[in-house]
Amino acid sequence: ERLRPDAAVAFVGLDAAYRERFGSPLCVADSYRPYHEQVLLFQQMLPGMAAHPGTSQHGLGLAVDLCGGVHELGSPEHAWMLSHAPTHGWVNPHWARNGFEPWHWEFTG
Ligand SMILES: [Zn+2]
Repeated sequence: ERLRPDAAVAFVGLDAAYRERFGSPLCVADSYRPYHEQVLLFQQMLPGMAAHPGTSQHGLGLAVDLCGGVHELGSPEHAWMLSHAPTHGWVNPHWARNGFEPWHWEFTG
């Protein structure tokens, strides 16, 4: 998996805190996504379910899609992320809240 260097450094710090709490690393389903992959995803998904090619934070290496419980709204892992990830610069953006994309986290610096 790949991220922009500053996002990667912050993610390693977040992962260390997560490991301390849950005893396992953050589960990463997707991170940097090259342009051609976003085009394919956009073509395969229902309207509104994937960003227009060229506009996704995944294309900039500033987003991750997480698994391992973080992807489930209301899980202990998701709740922990909501309260701890922002101190490491990572957020579940407002458009992704309320169960729309609980797995999607973006680096805000
Ligand atoms: Zn995503």
